[in-house]
Amino acid sequence: MSPEFSLINKYFNSHKTKVFKGIGDDAALIKKNNDYLWAISTDMLNEKIHFFPGTNPFNLGWKALAVNISDIYAMGGTPKFALLAIALPEIKSLWLKKFSDGLFSCAKKYNVDLIGGDTSKGPLSISICILGEVLKKNVLLRSNAKKNDDIWVTGELGLAALGLANLQKKIKLPQALTKKSIKALEKPMLNDSIIISMSKLSHSAIDISDGFLADLGHILDASKVGADILLKDLPINPWIKNNKLFDMGLTGGDDYQLLFTAPKKNRSKICLVNKKSSIQLTRVGEINDKRSLRIIDDNGKLYKTNTNGFDHFET
Ligand code: ADP
Ligand code: MG
Repeated sequence: MSPEFSLINKYFNSHKTKVFKGIGDDAALIKKNNDYLWAISTDMLNEKIHFFPGTNPFNLGWKALAVNISDIYAMGGTPKFALLAIALPEIKSLWLKKFSDGLFSCAKKYNVDLIGGDTSKGPLSISICILGEVLKKNVLLRSNAKKNDDIWVTGELGLAALGLANLQKKIKLPQALTKKSIKALEKPMLNDSIIISMSKLSHSAIDISDGFLADLGHILDASKVGADILLKDLPINPWIKNNKLFDMGLTGGDDYQLLFTAPKKNRSKICLVNKKSSIQLTRVGEINDKRSLRIIDDNGKLYKTNTNGFDHFET
């Protein structure tokens, strides 16, 4: 288990709760009525840890809310309300104007109401708590992946990691890709239009925030299953593929794409969802009962990565 998850389990996951689902999924779930659950989650962005000083404040406001909304979508839910807790080192009006414009532009796009929060002085830190609702019969738990499920991924993998590597001056990209990858990192767009249909057709889901391998790993652990993935089928960004930097697509964080597992019988319906939407859905592999996660390369050999995905406390 990763240091981050060991810490959570040791110090914060030792007490039973009475809610429908407590710690361990993208959002906690609380009974709303016979048909619906409330989904509630919180995510924090800290300067120098999650973003560089000087990051475009509009994008920061957008991202702070978007990463939270993403966790509600990962449960198959609809985001509704948000609370914003923000620590600021000083009052800079222009920065605050741009930050709040970004925040509210994201809120408008995904239909979320900001209904409260807290403001304090301190090193720049933004924490949002999000509340959404989920139709109970369609809820997508990490623990519900089944043997023989297809594994589906939205969009492209590794684009945000490319943006980060570019900002860190670790790689040099063509100009158009520089722009596109930094935008993916700083202003993630979410897969809202397919959530309702995919929640009806899938068994489980997670949003890819820590990297494809790490996040698929969370589903496999929670569901006590394994998976085989074909490297050639993964929608890794073409530049990354061409440069054979596969680890970037497999373990790069911050993409906020969604991963679903769904029964094979729903394959044609999911292809139809894919066809009708502008969001790309790619079938990348299959769930099995072997309890291991295997990536198979073009020669049929096991592909080994050097890292597993993002962990705040990895040394
Ligand atoms: P995500 O990547 O979807 O935001 P995390 O990996 O951050 O999820 O967290 C995994 C699980 O642990 C979630 O269910 C989250 O609510 C829970 N969790 C994380 N930190 C804490 C904490 N300090 N106290 C209680 N629960 C926590
Ligand atoms: Mg998540």
